[in-house]
Amino acid sequence: MSTPSKKSLEMNEFLEIFSKKMSEGVGRAASIARNTCTTCKGDASTFTDELSEKEFTISGMCQTCQDEIFTDPQDEDLSFFYDNS
Ligand SMILES: [Zn+2]
Repeated sequence: MSTPSKKSLEMNEFLEIFSKKMSEGVGRAASIARNTCTTCKGDASTFTDELSEKEFTISGMCQTCQDEIFTDPQDEDLSFFYDNS
């Protein structure tokens, strides 16, 4: 829970590169439509909460992959994901 703003910046940059790579390769939208994770190609139909489900529609990552990336579950502030400015 330290330096949330710095983490947000790093995360933003990471996700930007990450999502670009994903959309180049697999076709993120198609995977999302099929409830398939764009990262591990596994099932992405079960999420622990609405936020995770919403995150899937943005990043295409299943719950498991999200858990691996969002290593700080105490930090619920994911607002930077939805700020596309
Ligand atoms: Zn996955």
